[in-house]
This record gives sequence, structure tokens and C-alpha cells, in this order.
Amino acid sequence: MGYIALIGTRMSSIRICAYCKKAVPLTKEHLWPSGIIARAKDIDTSYLGKLEKFIDADLTIKDVCAGCNNGPLSTLDAYICDLFDAQFSHPAIRRQARTFIYNYEMLLRWLLKISYNTARANESDVEALSKYVEFMLEGGRTPAEIQIRLELIHASPNPNWTPGSSTIKAIPAVSLRCARVETPENHLPGTTLRLVAIYGFYFWVIIMPPKTDSSLFHSGLPGKLLPPNRSKLSLYSTRGMLELHADWIRNPRAAQSMRDLRVRRGR
Ligand SMILES: [Zn+2]
Repeated sequence: MGYIALIGTRMSSIRICAYCKKAVPLTKEHLWPSGIIARAKDIDTSYLGKLEKFIDADLTIKDVCAGCNNGPLSTLDAYICDLFDAQFSHPAIRRQARTFIYNYEMLLRWLLKISYNTARANESDVEALSKYVEFMLEGGRTPAEIQIRLELIHASPNPNWTPGSSTIKAIPAVSLRCARVETPENHLPGTTLRLVAIYGFYFWVIIMPPKTDSSLFHSGLPGKLLPPNRSKLSLYSTRGMLELHADWIRNPRAAQSMRDLRVRRGR
């Protein structure tokens, strides 16, 4: 329905906000919050240019009203910037336990929001995500059919590094990604799987059809389930950047989606 509405708004002269659905003047919004982009640049600019990154920093969407943009959505962005300072900016160390402290409702609302923004820019998963716009704006009861898994990724030693060489010694987990994921292990029809990665924190967002036995799905997925009724999760990093990429490359559909992404960006 959201997808049809989006197409409809393009063809007609009246445009409606993708969130509140009101026909009001619309503003331009960046996919990634400006606060995150600014923080990512602060960490180490030299990494950002050198490393493979799938950041959609330059992508904008133009179907959000000022009321939503400057109101509830900016509150969510402020929350994620706080999480960045408290958590994401501190790299995960291999096999070292970490405690992730979170507000489940705020985190899920933000993950859905950035996924929905990216989905509209790429015209995929729009329908599945648009069902949750009210929850993104106002919060309330967390949808039971959505689950979040968190995986920590640590830096990998750079195989091309030798003493005295100008290349970096370790490949840090510093990318920002928001993407649709298709895995061969995804046996459940009608399930949407999204990845939102902020540095070493990889959030796998699983949107299942109602009344699904979620245990069937989880067997093939990385990370640890983030309990909705808690605010702390202890976990440790088991995969490095290179292992993550190797797994990704072995997965033909994921590799294809990465190639498509590069083509879309003219690289
Ligand atoms: Zn709005």
C-alpha cells in the first residue's frame, strides 16, 4: 500500500508525507542522520575514503514533512547519536565481552525508520516497512513479529600489511550500511530481513509474517537476539571484518546485491 502511495505521489501534483500521510509541504532528508555522518568523520577520516563503504550519505529522500522530520524523527536521530557516543564509537575487541545498553523501543523505531528511508530510496521492502510508520512516529507497543539480532564485528589484521608499509595494519569495522538482505537460509516466505550496520554493530532486523514460528528462522542468522523487555545484552565479537566479507562473498545473492549497489552508485 505504501509503495502504491509512493508511486501515486510522484504522478500527482499533491504529495503526501511518507510518515504522517498528510498533504503538506515536504522537506529533504538525508538517509543517515547528519549527527552520525559528522561523528563518523570525526573518528578517522582517512579510513572512510580508503575502505570499502556502502554509506548512502549523499542519498536523500524528499517525501517527509517538516513536522515529522523536525519532530519525532529527529528525536530518534538524537537517541541514535547518543548510542553512537556511548557504544558504537568504541570498537568491539575479538572475544572480549561487551554489554550493550539500549532502549528497545527507541532503537527499534530508529532501525525501522532508517530501513524505511533506504527502502523508499531503493524501492524495495517499502510495503513491509510502511506498516510501521505509526510506531516509528509515536512508539507504543512493540510489534511482536519484529525481532532484532545484534552481532559485533571486530577489526581484522590487514593481510597486505608488512612492517614499514604505508597501508593500514588492521582493517577496522567502520562502515555504515543499511540494506535489504537475502539469504539462502531464509526459508520463511513473507519474511523481510534488513541489516543496519553502524561501525562494528550489526543489527539484523527480521520482520516475520504474523504467527510465525520464529525459531525456524533464527537457526541461520548471525548475532544474538536482543530481548525486547530488557535494556542490557552481554555479548562478544566472533567475526572480524574480513570473515564477514568472506561470508558475504560466498553468499551469491548477497554478493549480487552488493554489485547492484555499486552499479547504482556508478562505481
Ligand atoms: Zn509528516
